[in-house]
Amino acid sequence: MAKKIRLTNKLIHETLVEAVGNEALIIINFLKNRKNISEFVISEKTKVEIHHVRKILYKLHQKHLAVYKRKKDAKKGYYISYWTFNKKRIKDIVLEIHREQLTKLKERLMKEEQNKGCFFLCANACARLDFDQGSELEFRCPECGSLLQQQDNERTIEHLKQKIKELEVFA
Ligand SMILES: [Zn+2]
Repeated sequence: MAKKIRLTNKLIHETLVEAVGNEALIIINFLKNRKNISEFVISEKTKVEIHHVRKILYKLHQKHLAVYKRKKDAKKGYYISYWTFNKKRIKDIVLEIHREQLTKLKERLMKEEQNKGCFFLCANACARLDFDQGSELEFRCPECGSLLQQQDNERTIEHLKQKIKELEVFA
């Protein structure tokens, strides 16, 4: 059974940074409790330059984190877009990021299990290679040239399994 994710401020923050980048936060913070705000007002109030504001808004729109309406300004004679932040999307994005991480961890686990006890590590920690990569280099580190040592990856496997278990609770 999937557990419900509790959206803490920390989780929301991390998710937004991951999805749209740190620089979008100032605009999200300004938009989050408002509706239909002109792109020019956003620029003015956040003191972010208009071209940059548009770039960030476009990114938010791509992730469905913001919607807009375009209206022709009667006085100025050109179109202005009015923006609303779509808070409900955050939860979907949290889940999407979770699923991506889970897929990556599972792929990684598969690789570790297929090469059980057969990873080769440089003592100076510059490289970690599987058997094929290692044998190609005659088990010398590609960075520093020291002899690679065979690594027991039992703990890595356990660690990955644990992380997968933690994430699967929410998947
Ligand atoms: Zn090395």
